Amino acid sequence: MPASQPAEPPVPEDRAFPGTIRLHVDARDVLRRIFKVREIIPIEQPGQLVLLFPEWLPGYHAPQAPIELFAGLKIQGAGRDLAWKRHPTQVHAFYVDVPEGVREIEAEFQFLSPTDPAQGRVVVGPTLLSLQWNAVLLYPAGYFARQIAVEATLTLPDEWQAACALKEAAREAATITFETVPLDVLVDSPVFAGRYFQRLALDERAEVHLNIVADSPELLAVTPDKIAPHRALIAQTDALFGTRHFDRYEVLLALSEEIGSIGVEHHRSCEAVTVKNYFSDWDATFSRRDTVPHEFVHSWNGKYRRGADSWTPSFDQPIRNSLMWVYEGQTQYWDRVLCARSGLWTAEQAMQAIALTAATQEVRAGSRWRPMSDTTRDPIIAARAALPWASWQRSEDYYAEGSLVWLDVDTRIRELSGEARSLDDFAQRFFGTGEAGDWTTNTYDFEEVITCLNDLAPFDWRAFFLDKIEGKHEGAPLAGIERGGFRLTYRSAPSAYWANTEKVAENVNLMFSLGLIASETGNVQEVLWEGPAFDAGLTTGTTLLAVNGDAYSAEALKRAVAAAASGEGLSLRVRAGKQEREADIRYTGGHRYPHLEPVEGARPRLLEILAPRS
Ligand SMILES: [Zn+2]
Repeated sequence: MPASQPAEPPVPEDRAFPGTIRLHVDARDVLRRIFKVREIIPIEQPGQLVLLFPEWLPGYHAPQAPIELFAGLKIQGAGRDLAWKRHPTQVHAFYVDVPEGVREIEAEFQFLSPTDPAQGRVVVGPTLLSLQWNAVLLYPAGYFARQIAVEATLTLPDEWQAACALKEAAREAATITFETVPLDVLVDSPVFAGRYFQRLALDERAEVHLNIVADSPELLAVTPDKIAPHRALIAQTDALFGTRHFDRYEVLLALSEEIGSIGVEHHRSCEAVTVKNYFSDWDATFSRRDTVPHEFVHSWNGKYRRGADSWTPSFDQPIRNSLMWVYEGQTQYWDRVLCARSGLWTAEQAMQAIALTAATQEVRAGSRWRPMSDTTRDPIIAARAALPWASWQRSEDYYAEGSLVWLDVDTRIRELSGEARSLDDFAQRFFGTGEAGDWTTNTYDFEEVITCLNDLAPFDWRAFFLDKIEGKHEGAPLAGIERGGFRLTYRSAPSAYWANTEKVAENVNLMFSLGLIASETGNVQEVLWEGPAFDAGLTTGTTLLAVNGDAYSAEALKRAVAAAASGEGLSLRVRAGKQEREADIRYTGGHRYPHLEPVEGARPRLLEILAPRS
């Protein structure tokens, strides 16, 4: 082993790794939330071996490997302990000297799920778990991920059931052996498992299934009227893209407060951990129904087709994200459209969601200094950490602002083509292309996006996107809403969608009046840059103690905003750190909640977009 400075890990090559890695994960310690791993790796030749923990994860667009949760590494060869040493800066790389005559090595280690959300996303609860294979394996450096074969087995607690995009090759008691697949397919095929489990087909061909795990059995209160829009989602997405690029697709849905919420796309499955009362409080949680449509769209936009610089051959190679405004921006656009087309939302609810997105982007001062393209670096910069001034810093705005740009594109194609074409045609030509069932990844670049749009409706799309993506702006790109026959307006009462998002998040959102969001208990969660609360010196993390002399409550704060419009002052008792003070907010505009209102005489293209395909 190198004494001081290990050599850099070998770069990946497109050659077959000799042999099959056997990976066994024991997930039975759900009380302590520990996955115990035993991995047998064939050895090609003696000498230095570099084992890597997957670092750059496609669905995260960033080096988000939970290496800090990897522990207990012990490596043996031919019955002897082998010493390992970690690279001093590439901390995902472990170096081992393999002696002559060793044909395989055995690595033992654990993945320690966070046991408190402050440590990261909790992935194991007493009755369910979410297993991402990248967190429980090491792989040999020097090979493309698709060239390393892995046979994975998983042992679950008794009476638990599991769902995964991989076929089961064998099952013995509580141990499942999955089909042997390349490493990239394994990492793209997570497992949800639990004691309370339900599996339902979502299409006629029974290729797409909804797999539900939940904290408790009553949360699986799935009735046909709630499954119907999920089935319609699959049919409407089929109609949108025309061709399926998978042989099977597993929606992995966890209804849980025990494990951390997440939405991650994969080619033949998705992970969605959402509110536990998704089905059991169907109306009260409707605003959260866009997760499954979003992740399902990614099977086409993101997995089957991916921006060229986002594709990498191996998990140690940096992922670049320059086309995330297509990958995520257009996916967010379609998730709202498909929510409406499938009946998961009404068209009215979808428009209310678009109004909230538009208004949020409209007041984001960060677009003055950061072009949207710069926010494609945010997964690497911030990794979704909470930010003190999100509206000034911006955060992955290629999602929300990107979705508004694609509404602009859709309505523009419709207008330019005399309503003959739309972004639906782009979806078919760009994402639905190729053989049905083919699920290799095909990359694209900016030029291909421009060419496809020009074929649909000739226009200077290059200049259009350079302005939208690379330009700095005041306000949001609202042209699509206007060409869609609507305008963004503000009223004194919130939309049903708005009220629902507040209820689910247990907060009060006054971003467009006071310029703040606070929890029901008075914790300030966001302050709008240069808004009235900002001017009064409030920050994220401030606690609101009293409103005009009365103890704080969300209702008291809302009453005070209304009263301030008729000239009464608005004084808050606040605590920041150990300091308490009075903060007078100078604001007399009353309540302001965003809505879309029809423009008289304009063609309601937005309603045409949101209508189901027949
Ligand atoms: Zn996404």
